[in-house]
Amino acid sequence: MKIAMLARNPRLYSHRRLVEAAFERGHTMDILNTTRCSVNIASHRPTVMYHGWNVTGYDAVVPRIGASITQYGLAVLRQFEMQGVWTLNESVAIGRSRDKLRSMQILAKHGLGLPLTAYANDPKEAEAIIKAVNGPPVVIKLLEGTQGIGVVLAETMKSAKSVIEAFRGANVNILVQEFIKEAGGTDIRALVVGGKVVASMKRTGAPDDFRSNLHRGGSAELIKITPEERSTAVRAAKWMGLNVCGVDMLRSNHGPVIMEVNSSPGLEGIEKATGKDIAGMIVDFIATHAKAGRTRTRGK
Ligand code: ADP
Repeated sequence: MKIAMLARNPRLYSHRRLVEAAFERGHTMDILNTTRCSVNIASHRPTVMYHGWNVTGYDAVVPRIGASITQYGLAVLRQFEMQGVWTLNESVAIGRSRDKLRSMQILAKHGLGLPLTAYANDPKEAEAIIKAVNGPPVVIKLLEGTQGIGVVLAETMKSAKSVIEAFRGANVNILVQEFIKEAGGTDIRALVVGGKVVASMKRTGAPDDFRSNLHRGGSAELIKITPEERSTAVRAAKWMGLNVCGVDMLRSNHGPVIMEVNSSPGLEGIEKATGKDIAGMIVDFIATHAKAGRTRTRGK
């Protein structure tokens, strides 16, 4: 097979591993720098240009679009979809996963566990919102944040109100959430490939941090998840419409609650924690499922 990966940094562990796994299985995987792709929007003939070359002949696309270039990356991906090229995750599903509020609405609609969450628009509503999620304490997060940046724990009514006021004053969109204290600064990442959890790990934050992101100095270890956690992760992937994703959950007193569904999960932490060849599983999934003209909008 001839596979194209839309990604910016070819040296990133996840990208190197996917290329390697494809090569080991007799496929080729070229990395096309998403920002260097240009799209030609002409009736009946959608094309992608790369370094002046008309991109054709790929059987599948692996989108690894960074959060900072979501909009442009999805436009490039849609162009491939319009040509009938199969994609590992579809543009619509990636778009959903990048919008925290929309993702939570979709997951809530299907009865998946979530922390009590409220959306704050008017800072005058701050106190009501804090109480609505049984706080303080509350967790306040930027809608556009990633890697734990812009996730704040406010322990008192006074601090929570001033954080909300500050963010809203700067015209930043935020979510206010119940603080899942019992998670103890750890979360669970379940990696779903083709409707199955293929690996899972527990991430523990750096000492004194309630956030467990590996980017923030957290550590990862192998964990056996419960059947309820497994089914939560599988259903989240299904309703988001993602073939491959990382589902982050916290263990709360009221069962697993979903933090986030990541459509471009990093492979380094989970391969190292579990010793599994996740890149190989993803490539195997592509090889058995990629067919021209098979892109359709699923989920939600
Ligand atoms: P990001 O998308 O930036 O990684 P998350 O919403 O996943 O942000 O939050 C980062 C980390 O902060 C989570 O992995 C979790 O460890 C911690 N965290 C986030 N929300 C809560 C919460 N409501 N209660 C307890 N811990 C939380």
